[in-house]
Amino acid sequence: MAKITGFKTLDIRFPTSTEKHGSDAMNPDPDYSAAYLILETDSNISGHSLVFTIGRGNDLQCNSIAQLAETIVGEELSTLENRIGQIGKDLVRDSQIRWLGPEKGIPHMAAGGVVNALWDLICKINKKPLWKQLSDMSPEALVDLIDFRHISDAITPEEALSILKKGKDSREKNEKILLDKGLPAYTTTPGWLGYSDETMIRLAKEAVAEGFTLIKMKVGRSLENDIHRLELVRKTVGDDVRMACDANQVWDVNEAIKWIKAISHVNLFWVEEPTSPDDILGHATIAKAIAPTRVATGEHVHNRIMFKQMLQAGSMSFLQLDATRTAGVNENIAIIVMAAKFGIPVCPHAGGVGLCEMVAHLAMFDSVAVTGHHDKRVVEFVDHLHEHFVIPTQIKNASYVAPLTPGAGAEIKSQSLIDYNYATGSVWKSRK
Ligand SMILES: [Mg+2]
Repeated sequence: MAKITGFKTLDIRFPTSTEKHGSDAMNPDPDYSAAYLILETDSNISGHSLVFTIGRGNDLQCNSIAQLAETIVGEELSTLENRIGQIGKDLVRDSQIRWLGPEKGIPHMAAGGVVNALWDLICKINKKPLWKQLSDMSPEALVDLIDFRHISDAITPEEALSILKKGKDSREKNEKILLDKGLPAYTTTPGWLGYSDETMIRLAKEAVAEGFTLIKMKVGRSLENDIHRLELVRKTVGDDVRMACDANQVWDVNEAIKWIKAISHVNLFWVEEPTSPDDILGHATIAKAIAPTRVATGEHVHNRIMFKQMLQAGSMSFLQLDATRTAGVNENIAIIVMAAKFGIPVCPHAGGVGLCEMVAHLAMFDSVAVTGHHDKRVVEFVDHLHEHFVIPTQIKNASYVAPLTPGAGAEIKSQSLIDYNYATGSVWKSRK
């Protein structure tokens, strides 16, 4: 019986801060990083995943992953698919580690890292990409993955089952559409706050030429500068291209309302993370005050319980789940199904390293097996660092192409794992 025999964690960092890629009002100098996990087996496959961080602290994230990964050494590969629901629950219910959260921050993301690496193994065993693996599972098996603890007042197992059963008959048709057309993407590439006007305009023009119909701009450092940049981009792309903005949590609630009203003349499709991700009622207050401009949030929402409250409170019009913020694929399925119940579209967050590669699978699963294809779903795309991935994101006609290679998406090329290792890799050595 083949088993998980061990694991390795690697502290991988990309020096993106030098070019200001990823810069926004809250995060002026991120070094996109991956707390990287490899699950080793005595078969010829290994399970890969990463937790996205932005530099310092990536080592702590690696340590936390290692602590949890130890608990799954010895798991048999043949029973993984049946056991993954229970393993996911066990990883977040380890009471001593749970104390550090509960269900938030480093230990929770570590649980996600382990769960996602296990899914990578399952996909490789079954020779399917993750979106297909999940879309081929029975509604009952999918419901088994969900931890209903603390969300059963908003969604019961029976309701989740009925949502997934309703989607079952359309799976074949939805898969065909996915394979033919992919999933619509939007781009944040022109929008980073550290870019000059020239770079921003050039990238905005390129985005439109590539067929993107939604561009996202970072805002929130200076109102005067925001008005200048947003008007400039609006003039550059014309009125037919949708424009969203993202404040990355910098405003207080009243400040957010004032600021958004002062920039909404450029016609904003949504305003993202206007305030603290923990401020459920603050988001709801903002959403009410700035309507018809809509609020999007989720990349920093810790877990399904926070999402539950945001859905109940009317805090958002678009739910932006993240592949590595929560406890992995299992919890994201809970979130996707809950969003379906509340009628809120899931538009995943992907600004980071490897996130495009990972979230695409979740959005594709949603489009095939849960809410189908609709015009409210757009998946974030940022054009950074894809060259390091074994199965890199592919965009065609401004849409994500469905990957067909087995795996969950996070596997980084072995040479990149050597070169970008912190701080022994050649990229970091040469910077000392
Ligand atoms: Mg954002």
